[in-house]
Amino acid sequence: MAETKLSLKARRSPLTSEREQIRILSRTDRCSPFEERMRQAGFDPLYATGISVFQMNLGKLCNQTCRHCHVDAAPDRREVMTQETAARCIEALAQTDIPTVDITGGAPELNPQFRWIVAQARALGRQVIDRCNLSVLLLPSQSDLAPFLAGHRVEIIASLPYYRSAQTDAQRGEGIFEKSIAALRLLNQIGYGVEGSGLILNLVHNPVGAFLPPKQKAIEGQFRRELEHRYGIVFNHLYTITNMPISRFLEFLIETGNLESYMERLVNAFNPAAAAGVMCRYTLSVGWDGTLYDCDFNQMLNLPVSDLTPRHISDFNPAALVHRRIVTGNHCYGCTAGAGSSCGGAVT
Ligand code: SF4
Ligand code: SF4
Repeated sequence: MAETKLSLKARRSPLTSEREQIRILSRTDRCSPFEERMRQAGFDPLYATGISVFQMNLGKLCNQTCRHCHVDAAPDRREVMTQETAARCIEALAQTDIPTVDITGGAPELNPQFRWIVAQARALGRQVIDRCNLSVLLLPSQSDLAPFLAGHRVEIIASLPYYRSAQTDAQRGEGIFEKSIAALRLLNQIGYGVEGSGLILNLVHNPVGAFLPPKQKAIEGQFRRELEHRYGIVFNHLYTITNMPISRFLEFLIETGNLESYMERLVNAFNPAAAAGVMCRYTLSVGWDGTLYDCDFNQMLNLPVSDLTPRHISDFNPAALVHRRIVTGNHCYGCTAGAGSSCGGAVT
């Protein structure tokens, strides 16, 4: 998986078009429509069961350009959530008792609103998660980021595809593994991942190639042993996440001739138990421009929530959204394969 330097958008790739991505996914030979499969499993139409996670995507700006990125994030992207939209989000959150605010990007910490959002959400008594790429903690402009996160008791979910440099750098860029290790040491030093500190540090493993993740418990044990033995690093839990066949990972699948076989793998591994627990059923995802989505993946395919519900944070109405019908497509096979996949790791 060779590294890439620019976003699809900067390279003017046809895959910048969400419609094109959806068209490609609907035409793979070995893939029956997701809705049909869900119907057979008794889950079509699929409805939300509540909202326990308020996910905010602060934009596409990132200091990395990972090969598999489903956001097409990169240093060349400029789309970021404004202060006004951030304020609408906090107002909306205050109307509810949604317990968890999950902040993602891009590298969300690079958005000037990030720290204000964290402070506001914590003041409302909500658990806050920062989806952190680790290397951002080493940027000179972010030298006080780790203590800020610790001071606000923010849970960190950090991407680390593997405990060896070759695999990690192949997916995330030359030198990223070394930076990730340095950042994990920094976090451990201030208590993150250390038993009894109350500062939670969870890691995310996703496959470096066109295959499904291994069993979460088994790979967690492997990461724990290897990271402690090689680098003295500790963490709380490891989540496995399946690569979604969209955006830059879709580009990788097409370029390597793996699209058909990957989709076939996802479809054949369809698991009704995972389908019952997909994260869109309990998540509301807000885009950088305030548009509402069922999940971060739908956000990247420009598939907003059903038009029977409010579609922008300015029109937020929890009663209308809480049991909304979920918008699905063939990319959803990425959430229902094997043990299932969500922002919190395996589903079953
Ligand atoms: S995967 Fe994460 S760290 Fe990598 S480019 Fe995308 S948003 Fe940035
Ligand atoms: S991709 Fe999104 S909408 Fe589809 S099943 Fe996964 S979480 Fe739900």
